[in-house]
Amino acid sequence: MKKQNTVKKSETKKSTEQSKVMPLCACGCGKHTKGGKFIPGHDAKLVSHIMTNGARGKACYTMAKELVHMISNGDITISDAIAEYKTKFPLGMK
Ligand SMILES: [Zn+2]
Repeated sequence: MKKQNTVKKSETKKSTEQSKVMPLCACGCGKHTKGGKFIPGHDAKLVSHIMTNGARGKACYTMAKELVHMISNGDITISDAIAEYKTKFPLGMK
C-alpha cells in the first residue's frame, strides 16, 4: 500500500471549499471522493470485482491492482480492465 504523505487537514474551513467539485469515485459507484481517485476502500472493492468477474479459477491480485491503477488514471474503463484480465488468464490456464 502506498502512503500519501501530502494529506492536508483543511476540513475545518469548509465553507469556502464547497464550490470545488470533487472527482467521482473511479470504481463507478457514482459518489464523489474527497479529492482522491477513490473513496477509501473502493479501490480494494474494485480489485476484488475484477478478480471475481475476470478470473476463471485463477486470481491474480497484483494484476487486478495494476488494472485498477490504470482505471484510476483514466486509461481504461472497468469493463476494459475485466476484458484485459480475462485475456491474461484465459480459461484452462494452469
Ligand atoms: Zn466508489
